[in-house]
Amino acid sequence: MNEVVFVGTSDAFGAGGRRQSAILVRGPRGTLLMDCGATTNTGLAELGIDRNEIETILISHFHGDHFGGVPLFLLAAFYEDQRRQPLSIVGPPGVEARVRDLAHAMGHGFDDHPWPFPVTFHEVTTGTEQEIGPAQISAFETQHQIEANPHGYRVNVGGASIAYSGDTGWFEGLPDRIAGVDLFACECTLFDRKLDFHLSLDEISAHRAQMDVGRLVLTHLGTEMSRHRDEIEFETADDGLVIGL
Ligand SMILES: [Zn+2]
Ligand SMILES: [Zn+2]
Repeated sequence: MNEVVFVGTSDAFGAGGRRQSAILVRGPRGTLLMDCGATTNTGLAELGIDRNEIETILISHFHGDHFGGVPLFLLAAFYEDQRRQPLSIVGPPGVEARVRDLAHAMGHGFDDHPWPFPVTFHEVTTGTEQEIGPAQISAFETQHQIEANPHGYRVNVGGASIAYSGDTGWFEGLPDRIAGVDLFACECTLFDRKLDFHLSLDEISAHRAQMDVGRLVLTHLGTEMSRHRDEIEFETADDGLVIGL
């Protein structure tokens, strides 16, 4: 059976005391981590997930709450885990330079020393399905700050399909991108306020009928969403939520 583990489910600011975005996908051919916010090592430690299990990190966009944990993951893999197996870091175009620059800015640059395990970078392209690590992945552009090169994903593992919105406001093509998946992990940062670059509960309610998905789980919850989550008609993710598919 495939398994999805929500490692972090907050917005960028840790609303509700939650951790930033990270979703683990376990399939028959291996494990993929979708996004790696700055708090991801904390989440993996609390949930008892071995970093060595993760062979691929798939980044949705270059905001710190989605990829700020990558340099820290690498560092922990080196010092804590004595990792030897390869790690792929996959993301929007420019992923290698973004990760290297971030690691350097955080004081853990790795341009000058070789890692004892192979680290490879791969860029996603939209409009085609790519075989990446343990999954087939289709990337799509989302409605978010353009300088962060925002993408969402459709991931197939072991006969199950999962869509992940990354960060996005509503856009017309979204229902097409996610149509037919078993699970849609959809950001819902806002409760009733409207922003171009994030979704609100009001918008998700208004468009729910257009979303042809097996199970809809809201994540990336902001302060108001965390506060109201027990009163709403949609399922929301908690840190540590596990879904079998
Ligand atoms: Zn975010
Ligand atoms: Zn973002």
